Amino acid sequence: MPTSVAHQQVLEWYADHRRLLPWREPGIGGWAVLVSEVMLQQTPVARVLPVYEAWMRRWPTASALAADTPGQAVRGWGRLGYPRRALRLHAAATVIDGEHTGVVPAAYDELRRLPGVGDYTAAAVAAFAYRQRAIVLDTNVRRVLARWRTGVQFPPRHVTATERARAEEVLPTDGDVAATWSVALMEVGALLCTATSPACAPCPVRDSCAWRVAGYPAYDGPPRRVQSYAGTDRQCRGRILALLRDSDEPIPAAAVTSVWDDAVQRQRALDSLLEDGLVVENDETLALP
Ligand code: SF4
Repeated sequence: MPTSVAHQQVLEWYADHRRLLPWREPGIGGWAVLVSEVMLQQTPVARVLPVYEAWMRRWPTASALAADTPGQAVRGWGRLGYPRRALRLHAAATVIDGEHTGVVPAAYDELRRLPGVGDYTAAAVAAFAYRQRAIVLDTNVRRVLARWRTGVQFPPRHVTATERARAEEVLPTDGDVAATWSVALMEVGALLCTATSPACAPCPVRDSCAWRVAGYPAYDGPPRRVQSYAGTDRQCRGRILALLRDSDEPIPAAAVTSVWDDAVQRQRALDSLLEDGLVVENDETLALP
């Protein structure tokens, strides 16, 4: 199938089936896209939506967030998980406010210089907020491209130069169309080409999908990471942070014993929170920064 035909089919499918999400509204600004992309990195849309909406009501601009404390950002992050993202977003807001007159920069290189903004996030902001031609490779896009173009079930663990080159081969030349193409591939990955049960019948690239045509050969790469949560340090960190979020005042350090039984693991989790700057300790009390 020529790429132009695939473009047309994917874009038409997207126009008919896309979810209406606030960060995809036409003319959405750089700040809204940056916030949504940071939140969506490791968290599903359904969990992100209410937190995103509350966040944007409270901090509609980077400068509004920069004027608040990092601790308020952690509080506003709620239970989204991986709360270091809240601190990074606050740090990025501070730079945007101080060095970019409060406007999220449009240039990829400037975006990359913001604290905590990696290749994916910079490309996503350049594409979705500023309609530039950027290679946006999130988990969903990578999985669709691996199956459709390469004929394998899953992409490599980390983005490779070959993968980027293949993504660029099919990226439309016009910036605006390229941005819609990227979000459309994301949506194909999220709604049809899921990790465990792809729905090929309605897929807009089914006729040219190398993996489907080859008869769905089983994945034979290195073992894939399965994320667990229960019983992990991450869960323990989440409980400690929840305790602090629920309190307007610093809490006695000894209070954390109530949220986790294993003393060694509890201390390790607390130490890592202190090291990450998510919690501060003062006179045997703990508080958000
Ligand atoms: S045809 Fe199936 S496997 Fe191929 S990209 Fe579409 S949903 Fe994924």
